[in-house]
Amino acid sequence: MIPNSMRARDRAYVVHQQTNLRSFEDEGGLLITGGDGVYVVDDEGRRYLEAMAGMWSASLGFSEKRLAEAAHRQMQTLPFYHVFHARGHEPAAELAEALLAIAPCAPGAEPMARVMFHCSGSEANDTAIKLVWYYHNAIGKPAKKKIIGRVRGYHGSTVATASLSGNATMHAEFDLPLPIFRHTENPDYYRFHEEGESEEAFSRRMADRLEELILREGPDTIGAFFAEPVQGGGGAITPPARYFELVQAILKKYEILFIADEVICGFGRTGNMWGSQTYELRPDMISCGKALSASYQPISALMLTQRIHDAMLDQSAKLGNFSHGFTFAAHPVACAVALETLRIYEADDTLGHVRAVSPLFLEALSRFRDHPLVGDVRGVGLFAGVEMVADKATRRPFAPEWKVGERVQRACMGNGLFVRSIVDRIAFTPPLIIRPGEIEDMAARFGAALDEVLADLEGQRAA
Ligand code: PMP
Repeated sequence: MIPNSMRARDRAYVVHQQTNLRSFEDEGGLLITGGDGVYVVDDEGRRYLEAMAGMWSASLGFSEKRLAEAAHRQMQTLPFYHVFHARGHEPAAELAEALLAIAPCAPGAEPMARVMFHCSGSEANDTAIKLVWYYHNAIGKPAKKKIIGRVRGYHGSTVATASLSGNATMHAEFDLPLPIFRHTENPDYYRFHEEGESEEAFSRRMADRLEELILREGPDTIGAFFAEPVQGGGGAITPPARYFELVQAILKKYEILFIADEVICGFGRTGNMWGSQTYELRPDMISCGKALSASYQPISALMLTQRIHDAMLDQSAKLGNFSHGFTFAAHPVACAVALETLRIYEADDTLGHVRAVSPLFLEALSRFRDHPLVGDVRGVGLFAGVEMVADKATRRPFAPEWKVGERVQRACMGNGLFVRSIVDRIAFTPPLIIRPGEIEDMAARFGAALDEVLADLEGQRAA
């Protein structure tokens, strides 16, 4: 039978991502047909406040005409070209220059000097992994090839970046990680601190664990460490006090490259242009994507220091061709839209706006600390996580089969709010343009959803 509605067609033909395929086959999903500021609309006319900015990403909301116009202009000038074989185009050159002009550089750190464009965060990180290997070959340390990520870190879905990500389910499903990847502990202070342990003491313990791992493996075999300034897919987890300071000292001691995955944090999410500024990171490479084009075009970037690029030049001088590239990387339309996005951030002072509304956002969510279901609320800028627990005093989590996070996410949807549940933690990363009234609207919808789930759970407990 031919499907008779667009939803039915979607269900019949599209394989969805990060979806329970069995449930989707049985129940279907919904289609998003349009957007307006921080809201999106589905095919049945329902309006949702998009408190995840789509995929942690649509920083300028869903109706920014200036970006549509930039795409249209570029389509009429040069709709496609690539950056292979020593050819290029103006939008890529201009965007690379604009990006480097705003790249972070902590005191004493090496500035970013070059940019490689890609189409997704996964590709940028995948290339970063290849460059770690290429770099160490170039400097005559070919044994330094192992890569360290963190438990519950998220860096992408390619074979290498899913290996680097610290998600046990993802690994089990796809026979990963590849043998060269290692994972150090997840610095989730709320979940893993011991009774009476300060944030700083916890950070020291986490740094010690990293050093133990490096020593166990052999420092001469470790090429790089990847980290998100604030963990996104792991549950919107802000780093505990001094964590990165302690970790970076260890990386320096053992000559291990540090790659900051700014795919979510980049472009204002944490209240600075970069998470690296918020947490004083000194990375050797930075990956970014998502808000680079406000997500209106698929584009990501990997920035490199001069030292990395110099080693690449040496290696290429020996080997000839640098044998790497993607057809759609540095796509001119995507570059033009990203350039316009950066112009809008500056012209509209998007960062100033984030700083102005962040206290309201964090306060509105902090009110839920008193809610019977909520154990922890933590965030920075416009990035927050709310964790539900069975026992607030002991931080005891709910039994997984209660699926509390999933139920809250569903109840939010029923109340016209899109959030993301990560086990029993709810992540919030609204578009950076969210206004005070919309923050209140978000909190009201979330509160109604929490109350519904609480009533439901009480009914279940009583039964
Ligand atoms: N790194 C981080 C921190 C991410 O959150 C994501 C995506 N959510 C990625 C990398 C992968 O990006 P993409 O989905 O664009 O491949």
